[in-house]
Amino acid sequence: MGKLTILVHGGAGPDSAFIKKNIDSYKQGLREAADTGYGILEAGGTAMDAVEAAVNYLEDNPLFNSGRGSALNEKAEVEMDASIMDGKTMKSGAVAIVKNVKNPVTLARAIMEKTKHIYIGDMGALEFAQKMHLRLMPEAYFITDHAYEQYLSATEEEANSIEQAGEYQVRRKEHGTVGAVAVDKDGNVAAATSTGGTENKVPGRIGDSSIIGIGSYANNKTCAVSSTGDGEVLIRNVAAFHVSAIMQYKGLNLKEACNYLIKEELKDAQGDMGIIAVDPEGNFTFEFNSERMHRAWRTSDGEQGVGIYKE
Ligand code: ASP
Repeated sequence: MGKLTILVHGGAGPDSAFIKKNIDSYKQGLREAADTGYGILEAGGTAMDAVEAAVNYLEDNPLFNSGRGSALNEKAEVEMDASIMDGKTMKSGAVAIVKNVKNPVTLARAIMEKTKHIYIGDMGALEFAQKMHLRLMPEAYFITDHAYEQYLSATEEEANSIEQAGEYQVRRKEHGTVGAVAVDKDGNVAAATSTGGTENKVPGRIGDSSIIGIGSYANNKTCAVSSTGDGEVLIRNVAAFHVSAIMQYKGLNLKEACNYLIKEELKDAQGDMGIIAVDPEGNFTFEFNSERMHRAWRTSDGEQGVGIYKE
């Protein structure tokens, strides 16, 4: 049996008073998400089952920007994006602009397993969720006091923002998104990502998290990656696939590839970026250019940890 590893994230971005105030609860949530996924790996479950369960846990935890606790769009609505990829089969599933689905990553997996498609959005995704009897919740379930306060201050600031040379002075947003990467006893890797997206986004906006190769990517030849941060910057730079490509084409190991991408290749990119990654040997790493990235990990070698800042 190979080394079992799971690594989860709860978003990369600037620090905030809210994060500082809730630091213990954030750490507990991250630890419990990693433990949830690890429990599945330890019982002989697949990396796919582990990443889905860890992300489900974070989707249900209102502190994180995914599922319950999602950021609100300009109309104060929740629109969620998610993706999942299996490194063994290279199959993937994704969902965008979905409402009312309690666990969007589970819907992404159902799209992968039960349709001939990979990516379904909006009403079609909701109808498919209903057909699959996935759990739906009323809009009010998803909207937390914190997300609504964030929405109100973002709306106010954007109304007051000065357009300068065609560019808005964008407020440094708190960011969220959750993700998980894992390797199971057979050395298969998987990645999953789920988000409410960026606060005050235009209705219908789709970020990186649901895009295969950007938000999530998994390939048994190289690694599994989940990313977070400024979605537009991550899309422009094809974040998750990049790590795999650097390993495959350049022969760098996992740590070197993640470090190279964030610290060298994208060092001048204007935006927050964070990635977590594992390889089939159970090596894991994370890299971020922001003030913080919420993260936790656990391996069958007894390594275990949780972190938020650059400690
Ligand atoms: N990447 C997400 C998005 O742009 C947000 C985040 O990770 O904070 O939708």
